[in-house]
Amino acid sequence: MDTKDAIAIILKAAEFSAHKHRDQRRKDEDASPYINHPIGLANVLTNEGEISDPVILAAALLHDTLEDTETTYEELRGQFGDEIADVVVEVTDTKWLSRDARKRLQISKASHSSTQARAVKIADKICNLRDILASPPAGWLLERKQGYFDWAKEVVDGVRGAHPELERRFDALYRQRPTG
Ligand code: ZN
Repeated sequence: MDTKDAIAIILKAAEFSAHKHRDQRRKDEDASPYINHPIGLANVLTNEGEISDPVILAAALLHDTLEDTETTYEELRGQFGDEIADVVVEVTDTKWLSRDARKRLQISKASHSSTQARAVKIADKICNLRDILASPPAGWLLERKQGYFDWAKEVVDGVRGAHPELERRFDALYRQRPTG
């Protein structure tokens, strides 16, 4: 993919995601627009992880569309192609997917997409820990925050090895785990 095509697909993903999440808000006290979150992931990946792969950046922008909006896997494939759609599926809770889609997912997990999905997963956890530290969801007490930090660490521990810089940044955040 040349630079022009890369920019085009990334911006298309931003537009698509903004539209799909248009009626959703984050759980912080100010109820920030949901789209701030996927844009935050793409920003972390590029400016902190030094990642310029358009597949990863587009998948980051789209990473919650399957889970949290009416978007379908087929729609993502049609709009963004198999590679991006498969990374989004990899970072999505897949209980509800068709058997066909799950099979495709298993194939893609076994081959090339895992490294890309790992980057999105780590960036997701980096952004969520930062949000909890800076402006936690309304009503979250200490124990709930600690529980999220610990769960996020388990997820990141499961995908270590491919993105040392992102992992280092996650670990630095985890050391700020709230204690009271
Ligand atoms: Zn997310």
